[in-house]
Amino acid sequence: MSEVPTRSRGTIALLAENCTVCMLCVRECPDWCIEIDAHTETRDPPGGGRPRQTHVLDDFRIDFGLCFYCGICVEVCPFDALFWSPAHEFAATSRAGLVHDRDLLGEALAAVPPPSAHEPQGEPAREQR
Ligand code: SF4
Ligand code: SF4
Repeated sequence: MSEVPTRSRGTIALLAENCTVCMLCVRECPDWCIEIDAHTETRDPPGGGRPRQTHVLDDFRIDFGLCFYCGICVEVCPFDALFWSPAHEFAATSRAGLVHDRDLLGEALAAVPPPSAHEPQGEPAREQR
């Protein structure tokens, strides 16, 4: 990857383990370029009690042929699952190639810089990588 500023908006990275399928990013994206596939599982709570239904992420796609890098999805995610990544070499020869799936969005995490000293603390999510 050629040198770009560490905090440049090259692409969006997904930490899938943190995504609760709340759908906030899908609803807030002004361009409708985020698609999520998920299913529901019923689990018993560790401490007992009634079984709970949980949404489980199957796939997460961003169409970078539509995305205009506004950053709203990154800002609104309440669970620190989306980050700006300086990774940027994603040229494609077809429109379909501009759709990044869960795996590709996950690979972009490797280039995400640690939070700066000016960002609020309390981002345990990134510590899990
Ligand atoms: S950066 Fe903006 S346009 Fe791109 S996926 Fe996020 S909300 Fe949508
Ligand atoms: S806002 Fe965050 S937690 Fe909610 S669906 Fe989008 S990435 Fe997942």
